[in-house]
Amino acid sequence: MIAEDLACQELVELVTDYLEGALAPCRRARFEQHLAACPFCVTYVEQIRQIITTASAVAPQRLSPAAQQRLLRAFRGWHSLEPPPPHESG
Ligand SMILES: [Zn+2]
Repeated sequence: MIAEDLACQELVELVTDYLEGALAPCRRARFEQHLAACPFCVTYVEQIRQIITTASAVAPQRLSPAAQQRLLRAFRGWHSLEPPPPHESG
C-alpha cells in the first residue's frame, strides 16, 4: 500500500515543474509513481507537454500565470472525460 499517494489535483499543479525538470528528486519520484498507477494523468501530462512545446515555440519564456490558469481549467474538463467505448466483438 502506498502511504502517501499523490492526488491527481496535486499532480496537475506540479506538471509544469515536472516537464521543466524543476521538481526535486523526491517529488519527481512520487510524481512518476502516480503516473505508473494513473493512466488518466499520463494522458494529461502528454497533453500538457504538447501545449508547452507549442507555447514555447511561440514565446520562448516560462508559462504566464494566465496560461497556467488555462491549463488548470483544461484539467477540470479532462476530469469529466468519458472512458473509451467497450470493444465490440463480431
Ligand atoms: Zn492521477
